[in-house]
Amino acid sequence: KGNYAVRCAYYSSDMKTRLENNHVLLAEVQAGLERDEFIYYLQPKCNLNTGKIVGLESLVRWKHPEKGIVAPGYFIPVMESNGLITELDMKVWEQVCQTLQDWIKSGHKVIPISVNVSSVDIYAIDVVEHFKNLVRKYGLPPEYVELEITESAYVEEYKVITSVAEALRNAGFTVLMDDFGSGYSSLNMLKDVNVDVLKIDMKFLKMDENTMDKGMGILEAVTRMANIMGLRMIAEGVETEDQINYLLNMGCIYGQGYFFYKPLPVEEIKVLLNDENNV
Ligand code: C2E
Ligand code: CA
Ligand code: CA
Ligand code: CA
Repeated sequence: KGNYAVRCAYYSSDMKTRLENNHVLLAEVQAGLERDEFIYYLQPKCNLNTGKIVGLESLVRWKHPEKGIVAPGYFIPVMESNGLITELDMKVWEQVCQTLQDWIKSGHKVIPISVNVSSVDIYAIDVVEHFKNLVRKYGLPPEYVELEITESAYVEEYKVITSVAEALRNAGFTVLMDDFGSGYSSLNMLKDVNVDVLKIDMKFLKMDENTMDKGMGILEAVTRMANIMGLRMIAEGVETEDQINYLLNMGCIYGQGYFFYKPLPVEEIKVLLNDENNV
């Protein structure tokens, strides 16, 4: 019993500091939003056979006045828990559409860019209407805008997310299930979920020797099933040549990861795309 009380005290003081930290972080994030300090990087998606760039993903960064470029692991959880994430996401989506419009207008090579959509966004706003308005505003063919929605969202609110995904696809957008296989969905769910692409979670490529065999078995089953169902697949977190060979052997021909490119500032991506050898 004594032990239990000590543990409770430990947890509650831990929670208290966490809440206080969140409070400080939240105020900081809000100020950052007001000062327009959030930008995005782009990470190429590649054909595993040729290394050519076939798509891009936008990943938000905080251009912090003191800390420099900050990755989203630091600020997204707190923004999701208080709903501020939607304000941030809408800014990122708008910037991405602006970039696509610039590229089209300047005759630059254009390839699709995917944006991340938090499940919080789906309840906060009408995502389908929002994206329809965005492509109208920027004069974009919807094929250039892809939406990544995490697998966990489908599991939390299966019916809602599935119908949103379907409406997006009917409007011409491409929908990706992000972090696929990260532990929530069953293979069975796949047959009802209306998406274009499965993004295989990087944990499948990050197994140690003990968990490797099992993970690989699951990945093989998923790949086979996805191929049968005509779903496209892309693996995330590709870092080594061995992983590429393994994925290709299994029938997964697209990947994203440090082996090819890290997320890069938009200007650097623009230069990459201008070189025909890369695309
Ligand atoms: P995610 O969507 O699964 O994105 C993949 C993450 O893996 C990115 O981290 C990317 O930089 C990193 N990554 C890419 N290749 C490799 C690799 O080869 N090895 C390893 N170890 N990591 C790799 P990042 O940019 O820190 O983003 C983390 C997460 O934050 C994202 O995971 C996504 O869930 C969320 N996120 C990022 N940008 C946005 C955004 O604009 N809106 C929302 N709602 N969420 C975002
Ligand atoms: Ca993503
Ligand atoms: Ca992912
Ligand atoms: Ca992830």
